[in-house]
Amino acid sequence: ESIDIKTPSKEYPVFLGQHVIEQLPLFLEKNYSDITKLLIISDEKVASIHLHKVKELAAKSGKQVLEYIVPEGEHAKTFDVFYQCQSFALANGLNRKSMILALGGGAVGDVAGFVAATFMRGIPFIQLPTTLLAHDSAVGGKVAINHPEGKNMIGAFYQPEAVFYELSFLHTLPIKELRSGFAEVIKHALIQDPEFYKWLLTEIQDLAAITDEQYLYMIKRGIAIKASIVKEDEKENGVRAYLNFGHTLGHAVEGLMGYGNFTHGEAVLIGCVYALKLSQYKGLSFDLVEFMEWVQSLGYSTNIPKQLDHTSLIQKMKKDKKTISDTITFVLLNEVGFPELAEINDEIILKQLEEIF
Ligand code: NAD
Ligand code: ZN
Repeated sequence: ESIDIKTPSKEYPVFLGQHVIEQLPLFLEKNYSDITKLLIISDEKVASIHLHKVKELAAKSGKQVLEYIVPEGEHAKTFDVFYQCQSFALANGLNRKSMILALGGGAVGDVAGFVAATFMRGIPFIQLPTTLLAHDSAVGGKVAINHPEGKNMIGAFYQPEAVFYELSFLHTLPIKELRSGFAEVIKHALIQDPEFYKWLLTEIQDLAAITDEQYLYMIKRGIAIKASIVKEDEKENGVRAYLNFGHTLGHAVEGLMGYGNFTHGEAVLIGCVYALKLSQYKGLSFDLVEFMEWVQSLGYSTNIPKQLDHTSLIQKMKKDKKTISDTITFVLLNEVGFPELAEINDEIILKQLEEIF
């Protein structure tokens, strides 16, 4: 299976399914005959499970293969790690005829992609996602590292050459990480596809029991939704902002809790609940009770952690790079599948926070 991603700056394929990773050597040989060195960037955990196989396949392309291992999770998305990757690349003679392979979840994809975007003003890279969340992060070309002042503050729009989404890599993913990624699947359904939302609601009752067939379907749908939005608006001047559904409050929760305590998706899910609540206040008709029961049964918390007070959440949301004026902009739904941007004043934000959490 392959999905074509078309953006103004680049077109590239997403190969998705069991064994797609085995097509990597031929793909490299055929399309990148001028590339001499491959640098695989992966994290400690993913490398310990899957690097061996990827290294072997990469070497089959006839190119020299190097590896650089970064820490897991958000610890990978720092200036230090970014600098170390660049230094490693320079020390090992990488140049414009080199390519980076990002093997891991969104964190690895983000830092490795940013290294690729900036090393010698940009060298090609390929995403080899290993998490469910990466159906979101590996497509669309946003790459970034964090600044102590905020998540993803330093980055670029830089599209990969291709994405090889090997489904069997997901089999080793811990349930908590699965839950994180599934929140972005829900997000994609809510903003663009009521039928897909219904499918999820009826089909997915236990995250530990998702079949490959179900993975294939939800990842394909999720990527198609993301692709349709990125095609229209690569650099987030308009509709791409809809992808931030659930992220306004989600990022604030994630940031204030300290990255690592809450996964990205777990925080985003809380943000989705809240965005749905605000949407209802603005007139959306939606069965929020059914939604809450469903996600709770999947193991999500729908409450803001008690130690976070509402005023500091508002302050944090105002620091988000997406907040331009002093009023916070939310992505809300008119209906499932029909998002809109709305500026909501602090008073209403607080009142709704108090009602729901
Ligand atoms: P991650 O990359 O931090 O991976 C989560 C954890 O799972 C890590 O500990 C990792 O080692 C482990 N892991 C990954 N794959 C595994 C596998 N197959 N088997 C066992 N363990 C595995 O997290 P993520 O959830 O994939 O990504 C989160 C990051 O993505 C955040 O930094 C977020 O900001 C970013 N993101 C970026 C975009 C974008 O458009 N660029 C979109 C959404 C999220
Ligand atoms: Zn997200």
